[in-house]
Amino acid sequence: MSNLSSIQLLKKLVAFDTTSYKSNLELIMFVKNLLEPAGISITLNFNPEQTKANLLASIGPKDQAGVLLSGHTDVVPVEGQAWSSEPFQALIKDDKIYGRGTADMKGFIACAMHAMLKAAQMPELTKPLHLCLSYDEEIGCIGVRGILGLLSELIIQPELCVIGEPTSMNIATGHKGKAVFKAICRGQEGHSALAPLYVNAIYCAQSVVEAITTTQKQIAEGPIVDMDYDVPYTTVHVGKIQGGKALNIVPNECVLDYEIRNVAEQNTESVQEKIFEYVEQSPYAKFVSFQEINQYPGLNTSTTIQAVKFLQTLLDPATELQKISFGTEGGLFHQQLNSAVLVCGPGSIQVAHKPDEYIEISQMQECDAFFERLLSHIKR
Ligand SMILES: [Zn+2]
Repeated sequence: MSNLSSIQLLKKLVAFDTTSYKSNLELIMFVKNLLEPAGISITLNFNPEQTKANLLASIGPKDQAGVLLSGHTDVVPVEGQAWSSEPFQALIKDDKIYGRGTADMKGFIACAMHAMLKAAQMPELTKPLHLCLSYDEEIGCIGVRGILGLLSELIIQPELCVIGEPTSMNIATGHKGKAVFKAICRGQEGHSALAPLYVNAIYCAQSVVEAITTTQKQIAEGPIVDMDYDVPYTTVHVGKIQGGKALNIVPNECVLDYEIRNVAEQNTESVQEKIFEYVEQSPYAKFVSFQEINQYPGLNTSTTIQAVKFLQTLLDPATELQKISFGTEGGLFHQQLNSAVLVCGPGSIQVAHKPDEYIEISQMQECDAFFERLLSHIKR
Protein backbone atom coordinates (compact mmCIF):
# COMPACT_ATOMS: atom_id res chain seq x y z
CA MET A 1 0.00 0.00 0.00
CA SER A 2 1.41 3.34 -1.03
CA ASN A 3 1.51 6.08 1.55
CA LEU A 4 2.61 8.75 -0.88
CA SER A 5 0.95 12.12 -0.36
CA SER A 6 -0.71 13.82 -3.29
CA ILE A 7 2.28 16.15 -3.61
CA GLN A 8 4.70 13.21 -3.68
CA LEU A 9 2.49 11.57 -6.30
CA LEU A 10 2.49 14.78 -8.33
CA LYS A 11 6.30 14.81 -8.32
CA LYS A 12 6.31 11.28 -9.72
CA LEU A 13 3.71 12.12 -12.38
CA VAL A 14 5.55 15.25 -13.55
CA ALA A 15 8.72 13.17 -14.08
CA PHE A 16 7.01 11.24 -16.90
CA ASP A 17 7.38 13.32 -20.06
CA THR A 18 3.92 12.72 -21.48
CA THR A 19 3.95 15.43 -24.13
CA SER A 20 1.10 14.51 -26.47
CA TYR A 21 3.36 13.32 -29.29
CA LYS A 22 5.11 10.89 -26.92
CA SER A 23 3.92 7.66 -25.29
CA ASN A 24 2.09 7.87 -21.95
CA LEU A 25 2.54 4.16 -21.17
CA GLU A 26 5.18 4.58 -18.45
CA LEU A 27 2.86 6.89 -16.52
CA ILE A 28 -0.13 4.57 -17.09
CA MET A 29 1.85 1.54 -15.85
CA PHE A 30 2.99 3.54 -12.81
CA VAL A 31 -0.66 4.29 -11.96
CA LYS A 32 -1.73 0.68 -12.60
CA ASN A 33 1.10 -0.77 -10.49
CA LEU A 34 0.29 1.58 -7.63
CA LEU A 35 -3.50 1.19 -7.58
CA GLU A 36 -4.00 -2.45 -8.53
CA PRO A 37 -2.23 -4.02 -5.51
CA ALA A 38 -4.53 -1.91 -3.28
CA GLY A 39 -7.53 -3.80 -4.66
CA ILE A 40 -8.58 -1.19 -7.21
CA SER A 41 -9.70 -2.73 -10.49
CA ILE A 42 -7.91 -1.43 -13.57
CA THR A 43 -8.90 -1.54 -17.23
CA LEU A 44 -6.52 -0.34 -19.93
CA ASN A 45 -7.60 0.75 -23.40
CA PHE A 46 -4.77 1.10 -25.92
CA ASN A 47 -4.49 3.12 -29.12
CA PRO A 48 -4.21 1.04 -32.33
CA GLU A 49 -0.40 1.45 -32.32
CA GLN A 50 -0.25 0.23 -28.68
CA THR A 51 1.90 3.26 -27.80
CA LYS A 52 -0.62 5.04 -25.57
CA ALA A 53 -3.45 4.01 -23.29
CA ASN A 54 -6.49 5.23 -21.41
CA LEU A 55 -7.00 3.81 -17.93
CA LEU A 56 -10.12 3.22 -15.87
CA ALA A 57 -9.68 2.56 -12.15
CA SER A 58 -12.70 1.56 -10.04
CA ILE A 59 -13.28 0.86 -6.38
CA GLY A 60 -16.54 0.15 -4.58
CA PRO A 61 -19.82 -1.62 -5.40
CA LYS A 62 -20.09 -2.50 -9.10
CA ASP A 63 -23.90 -2.44 -9.13
CA GLN A 64 -24.24 1.19 -8.01
CA ALA A 65 -23.98 4.56 -9.71
CA GLY A 66 -21.06 6.51 -8.33
CA VAL A 67 -18.72 9.36 -9.06
CA LEU A 68 -16.29 9.39 -11.96
CA LEU A 69 -13.16 11.55 -11.84
CA SER A 70 -11.52 12.32 -15.13
CA GLY A 71 -8.12 13.65 -16.14
CA HIS A 72 -5.87 13.66 -19.17
CA THR A 73 -2.32 12.41 -18.82
CA ASP A 74 -0.80 14.28 -21.75
CA VAL A 75 0.80 17.71 -21.54
CA VAL A 76 1.66 20.39 -24.08
CA PRO A 77 5.24 20.66 -25.42
CA VAL A 78 7.95 22.63 -23.62
CA GLU A 79 10.02 23.11 -26.78
CA GLY A 80 10.72 26.76 -27.49
CA GLN A 81 9.65 27.86 -24.00
CA ALA A 82 12.07 29.55 -21.60
CA TRP A 83 11.77 27.51 -18.37
CA SER A 84 13.68 28.61 -15.25
CA SER A 85 13.88 25.01 -14.05
CA GLU A 86 13.75 21.51 -15.54
CA PRO A 87 10.09 21.18 -16.68
CA PHE A 88 9.85 17.43 -16.03
CA GLN A 89 11.28 17.65 -12.54
CA ALA A 90 8.82 19.10 -10.03
CA LEU A 91 10.37 21.96 -8.06
CA ILE A 92 8.83 23.19 -4.81
CA LYS A 93 9.50 26.87 -4.21
CA ASP A 94 7.54 29.61 -2.42
CA ASP A 95 4.47 27.45 -1.72
CA LYS A 96 4.24 26.48 -5.37
CA ILE A 97 5.10 23.34 -7.30
CA TYR A 98 6.64 24.10 -10.68
CA GLY A 99 6.69 21.70 -13.60
CA ARG A 100 4.96 20.91 -16.88
CA GLY A 101 1.47 19.60 -16.22
CA THR A 102 1.32 20.60 -12.54
CA ALA A 103 -1.80 22.71 -13.18
CA ASP A 104 -2.95 21.04 -16.41
CA MET A 105 -3.63 18.54 -14.99
CA LYS A 106 -1.41 16.14 -13.10
CA GLY A 107 -2.14 17.97 -9.82
CA PHE A 108 -5.73 16.78 -10.01
CA ILE A 109 -4.69 13.27 -11.06
CA ALA A 110 -2.30 13.05 -8.08
CA CYS A 111 -5.05 14.09 -5.63
CA ALA A 112 -7.50 11.69 -7.31
CA MET A 113 -5.03 8.77 -7.06
CA HIS A 114 -4.46 9.61 -3.42
CA ALA A 115 -8.25 9.57 -2.86
CA MET A 116 -8.64 6.25 -4.70
CA LEU A 117 -5.99 4.67 -2.47
CA LYS A 118 -7.74 6.02 0.63
CA ALA A 119 -11.07 4.70 -0.63
CA ALA A 120 -9.45 1.28 -1.07
CA GLN A 121 -8.55 1.26 2.63
CA MET A 122 -12.10 2.02 3.74
CA PRO A 123 -14.04 -1.06 4.88
CA GLU A 124 -17.05 -0.63 2.65
CA LEU A 125 -18.24 2.00 0.21
CA THR A 126 -21.87 2.76 -0.56
CA LYS A 127 -21.02 4.04 -4.02
CA PRO A 128 -18.14 3.37 -6.39
CA LEU A 129 -15.42 5.85 -7.21
CA HIS A 130 -13.91 5.74 -10.69
CA LEU A 131 -10.86 7.44 -12.13
CA CYS A 132 -10.58 7.72 -15.89
CA LEU A 133 -7.25 8.80 -17.38
CA SER A 134 -6.91 9.63 -21.06
CA TYR A 135 -4.23 10.47 -23.64
CA ASP A 136 -4.14 12.98 -26.51
CA GLU A 137 -6.54 15.48 -24.90
CA GLU A 138 -4.34 18.42 -25.77
CA ILE A 139 -4.55 17.68 -29.48
CA GLY A 140 -8.35 17.74 -29.66
CA CYS A 141 -9.80 15.31 -27.07
CA ILE A 142 -8.78 12.41 -29.31
CA GLY A 143 -7.72 9.62 -26.94
CA VAL A 144 -10.64 9.52 -24.51
CA ARG A 145 -13.03 8.53 -27.32
CA GLY A 146 -11.48 5.04 -27.24
CA ILE A 147 -12.56 4.36 -23.68
CA LEU A 148 -15.83 6.31 -23.72
CA GLY A 149 -17.44 3.64 -25.87
CA LEU A 150 -16.45 0.97 -23.33
CA LEU A 151 -17.52 2.82 -20.19
CA SER A 152 -21.20 1.91 -20.41
CA GLU A 153 -20.17 -1.77 -20.45
CA LEU A 154 -17.69 -1.38 -17.60
CA ILE A 155 -19.60 0.73 -15.09
CA ILE A 156 -23.10 1.87 -14.14
CA GLN A 157 -23.83 5.35 -15.49
CA PRO A 158 -22.22 7.66 -12.88
CA GLU A 159 -24.35 10.18 -10.99
CA LEU A 160 -21.61 12.71 -11.46
CA CYS A 161 -18.49 13.10 -13.58
CA VAL A 162 -15.89 15.57 -12.35
CA ILE A 163 -13.46 16.73 -15.03
CA GLY A 164 -10.46 17.96 -13.05
CA GLU A 165 -9.20 20.66 -15.41
CA PRO A 166 -7.81 23.67 -13.53
CA THR A 167 -10.64 25.93 -12.31
CA SER A 168 -8.95 26.98 -9.03
CA MET A 169 -11.45 24.56 -7.42
CA ASN A 170 -14.44 26.53 -8.65
CA ILE A 171 -17.27 24.70 -10.42
CA ALA A 172 -17.59 25.16 -14.16
CA THR A 173 -20.90 24.10 -15.65
CA GLY A 174 -20.09 24.80 -19.27
CA HIS A 175 -17.70 25.57 -22.05
CA LYS A 176 -17.96 26.11 -25.77
CA GLY A 177 -17.65 23.31 -28.30
CA LYS A 178 -15.08 23.39 -31.06
CA ALA A 179 -14.82 22.26 -34.67
CA VAL A 180 -11.64 22.51 -36.73
CA PHE A 181 -11.56 22.74 -40.53
CA LYS A 182 -9.16 23.10 -43.42
CA ALA A 183 -10.06 25.08 -46.54
CA ILE A 184 -7.99 23.85 -49.46
CA CYS A 185 -7.73 26.30 -52.35
CA ARG A 186 -6.37 25.00 -55.64
CA GLY A 187 -5.45 27.48 -58.38
CA GLN A 188 -3.29 27.25 -61.46
CA GLU A 189 0.47 27.65 -61.53
CA GLY A 190 1.90 30.13 -64.01
CA HIS A 191 4.48 32.84 -64.67
CA SER A 192 3.60 35.91 -62.63
CA ALA A 193 4.16 38.10 -65.72
CA LEU A 194 0.97 36.49 -67.08
CA ALA A 195 -0.81 36.51 -63.68
CA PRO A 196 -4.30 37.50 -64.87
CA LEU A 197 -4.40 34.37 -67.06
CA TYR A 198 -4.23 32.02 -64.08
CA VAL A 199 -6.24 31.37 -60.92
CA ASN A 200 -4.30 32.60 -57.89
CA ALA A 201 -4.88 30.19 -54.97
CA ILE A 202 -4.13 32.96 -52.46
CA TYR A 203 -6.97 35.02 -53.94
CA CYS A 204 -9.23 31.97 -53.49
CA ALA A 205 -8.15 31.81 -49.85
CA GLN A 206 -8.90 35.50 -49.50
CA SER A 207 -12.52 34.76 -50.42
CA VAL A 208 -12.64 32.16 -47.64
CA VAL A 209 -11.16 34.62 -45.12
CA GLU A 210 -13.78 37.14 -46.16
CA ALA A 211 -16.55 34.55 -45.77
CA ILE A 212 -15.28 33.77 -42.27
CA THR A 213 -14.97 37.40 -41.15
CA THR A 214 -18.42 38.25 -42.56
CA THR A 215 -19.90 35.24 -40.76
CA GLN A 216 -18.21 36.28 -37.51
CA LYS A 217 -19.56 39.81 -37.82
CA GLN A 218 -23.06 38.51 -38.38
CA ILE A 219 -22.90 36.12 -35.42
CA ALA A 220 -21.57 38.87 -33.15
CA GLU A 221 -24.71 40.90 -33.86
CA GLY A 222 -26.79 38.14 -32.25
CA PRO A 223 -29.31 36.97 -31.41
CA ILE A 224 -27.62 33.78 -30.13
CA VAL A 225 -25.56 34.77 -27.09
CA ASP A 226 -24.52 33.31 -23.75
CA MET A 227 -23.60 36.15 -21.44
CA ASP A 228 -21.71 33.80 -19.09
CA TYR A 229 -18.76 33.92 -21.51
CA ASP A 230 -16.23 36.74 -21.91
CA VAL A 231 -16.94 36.59 -25.63
CA PRO A 232 -20.66 35.83 -25.37
CA TYR A 233 -21.18 34.40 -28.84
CA THR A 234 -19.80 31.71 -31.15
CA THR A 235 -16.37 32.62 -32.48
CA VAL A 236 -14.88 31.83 -35.88
CA HIS A 237 -11.15 32.24 -36.34
CA VAL A 238 -8.45 31.63 -38.96
CA GLY A 239 -5.25 30.52 -37.26
CA LYS A 240 -2.97 29.50 -40.09
CA ILE A 241 -2.58 30.16 -43.78
CA GLN A 242 -0.01 28.67 -46.09
CA GLY A 243 0.41 29.33 -49.80
CA GLY A 244 2.79 30.42 -52.52
CA LYS A 245 6.31 29.39 -53.41
CA ALA A 246 7.94 32.42 -55.00
CA LEU A 247 6.92 35.92 -55.98
CA ASN A 248 7.24 35.19 -59.69
CA ILE A 249 4.98 32.13 -59.64
CA VAL A 250 1.19 32.37 -59.50
CA PRO A 251 0.46 30.12 -56.49
CA ASN A 252 -1.50 26.94 -57.21
CA GLU A 253 -2.24 26.00 -53.63
CA CYS A 254 -3.21 27.79 -50.44
CA VAL A 255 -4.41 26.03 -47.30
CA LEU A 256 -6.22 27.71 -44.45
CA ASP A 257 -6.86 26.33 -40.94
CA TYR A 258 -9.86 27.71 -39.09
CA GLU A 259 -12.02 26.88 -36.10
CA ILE A 260 -15.54 27.45 -34.84
CA ARG A 261 -16.06 27.64 -31.07
CA ASN A 262 -19.77 27.48 -30.51
CA VAL A 263 -22.05 28.38 -27.62
CA ALA A 264 -24.46 25.57 -26.75
CA GLU A 265 -27.44 27.21 -28.47
CA GLN A 266 -25.70 27.33 -31.84
CA ASN A 267 -24.42 24.27 -33.66
CA THR A 268 -21.22 24.36 -35.68
CA GLU A 269 -23.02 23.00 -38.78
CA SER A 270 -25.18 26.13 -39.07
CA VAL A 271 -22.07 28.32 -38.87
CA GLN A 272 -20.23 26.20 -41.41
CA GLU A 273 -23.30 26.53 -43.71
CA LYS A 274 -23.07 30.33 -43.51
CA ILE A 275 -19.38 30.21 -44.45
CA PHE A 276 -20.20 27.91 -47.40
CA GLU A 277 -22.93 30.31 -48.54
CA TYR A 278 -20.57 33.29 -48.63
CA VAL A 279 -17.84 31.31 -50.40
CA GLU A 280 -20.45 30.17 -52.96
CA GLN A 281 -21.10 33.82 -53.83
CA SER A 282 -17.46 34.33 -54.77
CA PRO A 283 -16.08 33.67 -58.28
CA TYR A 284 -13.48 31.41 -56.64
CA ALA A 285 -16.01 29.01 -55.10
CA LYS A 286 -15.24 26.10 -57.42
CA PHE A 287 -11.55 26.18 -56.50
CA VAL A 288 -12.17 25.71 -52.79
CA SER A 289 -12.84 22.47 -50.90
CA PHE A 290 -13.36 21.96 -47.17
CA GLN A 291 -12.21 19.26 -44.78
CA GLU A 292 -13.36 18.72 -41.21
CA ILE A 293 -10.32 17.86 -39.10
CA ASN A 294 -11.73 17.40 -35.62
CA GLN A 295 -14.53 18.43 -33.31
CA TYR A 296 -15.68 18.07 -29.74
CA PRO A 297 -18.99 19.12 -28.25
CA GLY A 298 -19.46 21.92 -25.75
CA LEU A 299 -20.69 21.41 -22.21
CA ASN A 300 -23.80 23.03 -20.85
CA THR A 301 -24.84 21.49 -17.53
CA SER A 302 -27.86 23.05 -15.84
CA THR A 303 -26.87 25.01 -12.74
CA THR A 304 -30.00 23.91 -10.88
CA ILE A 305 -29.51 20.13 -10.88
CA GLN A 306 -28.84 18.11 -7.75
CA ALA A 307 -25.27 17.24 -8.81
CA VAL A 308 -24.29 20.92 -8.70
CA LYS A 309 -25.72 21.33 -5.19
CA PHE A 310 -23.98 18.13 -4.12
CA LEU A 311 -20.60 19.31 -5.43
CA GLN A 312 -21.10 22.69 -3.77
CA THR A 313 -21.49 21.01 -0.38
CA LEU A 314 -18.07 19.40 -0.85
CA LEU A 315 -16.31 22.67 -1.66
CA ASP A 316 -15.54 25.99 -0.08
CA PRO A 317 -18.84 27.86 0.45
CA ALA A 318 -17.37 30.76 -1.52
CA THR A 319 -17.06 28.56 -4.60
CA GLU A 320 -18.52 30.20 -7.65
CA LEU A 321 -20.32 28.67 -10.58
CA GLN A 322 -18.74 29.69 -13.85
CA LYS A 323 -18.34 28.88 -17.50
CA ILE A 324 -14.81 28.44 -18.80
CA SER A 325 -13.18 29.71 -21.96
CA PHE A 326 -11.29 26.50 -22.74
CA GLY A 327 -12.57 23.14 -23.93
CA THR A 328 -12.50 19.85 -22.02
CA GLU A 329 -13.49 16.22 -22.49
CA GLY A 330 -16.63 17.00 -20.47
CA GLY A 331 -18.93 17.41 -23.47
CA LEU A 332 -17.90 13.98 -24.75
CA PHE A 333 -18.52 12.38 -21.32
CA HIS A 334 -21.97 13.92 -21.21
CA GLN A 335 -22.73 12.84 -24.77
CA GLN A 336 -21.67 9.24 -24.07
CA LEU A 337 -22.93 8.66 -20.51
CA ASN A 338 -25.67 11.25 -20.13
CA SER A 339 -24.36 11.80 -16.59
CA ALA A 340 -24.16 15.19 -14.88
CA VAL A 341 -20.75 16.56 -15.86
CA LEU A 342 -18.96 19.38 -14.05
CA VAL A 343 -15.45 20.76 -14.36
CA CYS A 344 -13.59 21.33 -11.10
CA GLY A 345 -9.89 20.99 -10.39
CA PRO A 346 -6.94 22.58 -8.63
CA GLY A 347 -4.62 25.15 -10.20
CA SER A 348 -5.19 27.96 -12.61
CA ILE A 349 -5.61 27.83 -16.37
CA GLN A 350 -3.74 31.17 -16.45
CA VAL A 351 -0.42 29.39 -15.92
CA ALA A 352 -1.17 26.35 -18.10
CA HIS A 353 0.64 25.79 -21.40
CA LYS A 354 3.26 28.37 -20.37
CA PRO A 355 6.88 28.16 -19.19
CA ASP A 356 7.20 27.86 -15.39
CA GLU A 357 3.72 26.33 -15.08
CA TYR A 358 2.93 25.78 -11.42
CA ILE A 359 0.28 24.78 -8.93
CA GLU A 360 -0.04 26.34 -5.51
CA ILE A 361 0.34 23.89 -2.65
CA SER A 362 -2.81 25.40 -1.13
CA GLN A 363 -4.71 24.30 -4.27
CA MET A 364 -3.48 20.73 -3.83
CA GLN A 365 -4.61 20.89 -0.19
CA GLU A 366 -8.01 22.21 -1.21
CA CYS A 367 -8.40 19.39 -3.70
CA ASP A 368 -7.35 16.81 -1.08
CA ALA A 369 -9.93 18.27 1.32
CA PHE A 370 -12.58 18.08 -1.39
CA PHE A 371 -11.84 14.36 -1.92
CA GLU A 372 -11.80 13.82 1.85
CA ARG A 373 -15.39 15.11 2.01
CA LEU A 374 -16.37 13.08 -1.06
CA LEU A 375 -15.02 9.93 0.58
CA SER A 376 -16.86 10.54 3.83
CA HIS A 377 -20.00 10.88 1.71
CA ILE A 378 -19.57 7.47 0.07
CA LYS A 379 -18.41 5.52 3.10
CA ARG A 380 -20.90 3.43 4.93
ZN1 LIG B 1 -6.05 20.21 -19.65
